[in-house]
Amino acid sequence: MPLENRYDLQQLLLVRMDIPQWHTIWQRNFTRVIPFLDFCQISPSDRLQILSSSPFPINVPERIAKKIEKGSIDDPLFRQFAPLMAEETATAGFDADPLHETTAHCTENILCKYHGRALIITTRACGMHCRFCFRRHYPYCQGPSDFHDELSWLHDHHEIDEVVLSGGDPLAQPTSHLERLLSALGKISHIKRIRLHTRFPIGIPERIDDELLSSLQKIPQQLLVVLHVNHPKELDDEVIVSLSRLRRLGIPLLSQTVLLRGVNDRVEILESLFSTLGNAGIIPYYLHQLDRVLGAAHYEVPVQKGLALVEALRGRMSGYLVPQYVQEVAGRPCKMAVSTAITLS
Ligand SMILES: *Cc1c(COP(=O)(O)O)cnc(C)c1O
Ligand code: SF4
Repeated sequence: MPLENRYDLQQLLLVRMDIPQWHTIWQRNFTRVIPFLDFCQISPSDRLQILSSSPFPINVPERIAKKIEKGSIDDPLFRQFAPLMAEETATAGFDADPLHETTAHCTENILCKYHGRALIITTRACGMHCRFCFRRHYPYCQGPSDFHDELSWLHDHHEIDEVVLSGGDPLAQPTSHLERLLSALGKISHIKRIRLHTRFPIGIPERIDDELLSSLQKIPQQLLVVLHVNHPKELDDEVIVSLSRLRRLGIPLLSQTVLLRGVNDRVEILESLFSTLGNAGIIPYYLHQLDRVLGAAHYEVPVQKGLALVEALRGRMSGYLVPQYVQEVAGRPCKMAVSTAITLS
């Protein structure tokens, strides 16, 4: 074999060996309903409550599936990731674009709703599919972007001092892509903070690997990470250790939680979630009232109940462990404190 070809072969092997571990684990997610239900040992009668397929396909990391109590459709993890028949019940007030996001674009991949902040949709992919996702019907653009238009828009908009990387999940893209985007943002001097909104480490904590940590260390701006987490069962030891690796880099960690019927709408569960987060050095930031997206009505908790839960938490926990209870109201200049949102809507 000529020398050049042998060299190519070596390169090829190197590239193959370079597929990061997290990616291999992610590829093993459950993406079909039947094998997922079989794995969870769901009984034939309970299966009648579950859709066999959905235009928003299931996507469940093995680690999450393993934590689901066998045979239990009431398990808080099962409820977040399994497509119940209830998704197909049309409910007044629930629609495909509850936050009017399709009209809040500055470029194809930038949403700009709030003063000083721009949100980049970095990818359509996620580590997992949460059934109540408010972007479950979002018309993501296909294929990877080089963010040319986004970067040039940000260059021109000096009033933006914070960029939120969202998606999809910004950690669902290869580290090299993320690094390219971060390094381009790093060169825009009026951007002072970059926030990463992610749920990835909950399903695949291996995502927080050395390669990612070393790319995050290269950014000149202050980085913050906001973790989407809804139930204490999501926070096992390995997840917490992986998050502490981010915290050790000096990256403040915040959390956001969606209030979900049958998942976390009890004071004991929220108390356990927020204290577990606090113990891990993660500050609970937002508790979101569910966005009224089509297919998620069965997750809605009445606002009065949410307010009572938050009040009860205040009586039991350190003030900084009780997140702000907010609701997004389309067209408003910020996420609204729920009590205010009620009076306005
Ligand atoms: C939620 C959101 C933000 C961030 O809002 P904060 O209240 O600062 O956390 C920014 N841009 C968009 C489009 C958002 O939806
Ligand atoms: S990880 Fe976030 S963006 Fe992805 S499906 Fe869940 S809620 Fe939606």
